[in-house]
Amino acid sequence: MVARSSPPIYLDHHATTPVDPRVIARVTHAMSEGFGNPNSTEHSVGRYAAGMLDEARVEVAHLVKADAENVCLTSSSTAAIRTAFTHALSLRLQRRSPVRIVASRVEHSAVLNAIASAERAGHADVVWIEVDQKARLDLDALRCACFDGADLVCVMAANNEVGTIYDTEAVCEIAAEGGALTLIDATQAAGRLALDFTDWGTSYMVLSAHKMYGPKGAGALVTSAPLSSRPGIVQEEGTPNVPALAGFGEACRLRRLEMHSDETRLCGLRDKLQTALLESIPDLVVNGDPDHRLSHSLHVSVPDVPNDLVITMLNDRVALSTGSACHSGAMEPSHVLRAMGLPVTLQDGALRMAVGKFNTADEVELAATYISEAILRARAALA
Ligand code: PLP
Repeated sequence: MVARSSPPIYLDHHATTPVDPRVIARVTHAMSEGFGNPNSTEHSVGRYAAGMLDEARVEVAHLVKADAENVCLTSSSTAAIRTAFTHALSLRLQRRSPVRIVASRVEHSAVLNAIASAERAGHADVVWIEVDQKARLDLDALRCACFDGADLVCVMAANNEVGTIYDTEAVCEIAAEGGALTLIDATQAAGRLALDFTDWGTSYMVLSAHKMYGPKGAGALVTSAPLSSRPGIVQEEGTPNVPALAGFGEACRLRRLEMHSDETRLCGLRDKLQTALLESIPDLVVNGDPDHRLSHSLHVSVPDVPNDLVITMLNDRVALSTGSACHSGAMEPSHVLRAMGLPVTLQDGALRMAVGKFNTADEVELAATYISEAILRARAALA
């Protein structure tokens, strides 16, 4: 185990969230009372575990306004995305080969990887929809691409780096006009924004427990495809992870009840952090769309200061992220910031933060002080 002195102030809630103690209680209950195999429905021990999964499905469905029978429980959003791709491709390859995928440039790597493997297999051609400097999607370009013929449209509900929120209702409408299926990656949005799977006419929506104060190892694919025509859709492959999925259900229930008040409070904390940082570092650039971003999200760039130097100067007092990805052993700026066309100096100086429901106002104030000090020290070291 890695030794840890005092833990940093945690501001990396886009990466994952701490687990709500009430969710932990549900997971613990599932581990002790619900240890049965949910496939062993011959006896009450198995049926009890199966009942916990049914309850989880109902809670996922409530959160995104779907029917429980639309919900396939999975081990993660990544698994749900892969399953959605298998299903969409198997449906559409019967009509056209390769299928036409229309996707935003700023999708998560889980979606990008699924697209890349469909392309490599010769099953898909892709039309990319560009974003502007605030990571806003060009809906006219999306409309044109769908008008030209599309099979699957992939747009996330909210971006995992800069927090920009997308009008997924409009995306589903445009896709439907062009006869395309939709894959809405709601991993960052679920439990933070109102989602309406049914009303929007969504084909596939994915979500993940660990982004909403739930455990890792649990996610869901919500799909309108009738159960009987779900080639490739496997619900809970292998013996389901009942504790994680039961915890996911509880996390969804709590988000449904508390999302509005929690997000209002987080917006206040995030704004406090942003104001404090801008006061100390006036040339700090706030990225993303300030009018349409997740209320807990703050993405900034420090001009001319590489983010790895800021991280070094922070000395683990605050947990935040650079958003860089490791490619061939080297750290590269994120594809999202590149797609936004940010100048290289702003890509290199990017810092991604997101506050969470367990952060206090004092912590956020202290984090702002630590981050500002680290930036000033980094600037001094470069001078
Ligand atoms: N999609 C988005 C937008 C994400 O932010 C993430 C995780 O960071 C994923 C998909 C993958 O989620 P999971 O960790 O559940 O596979």
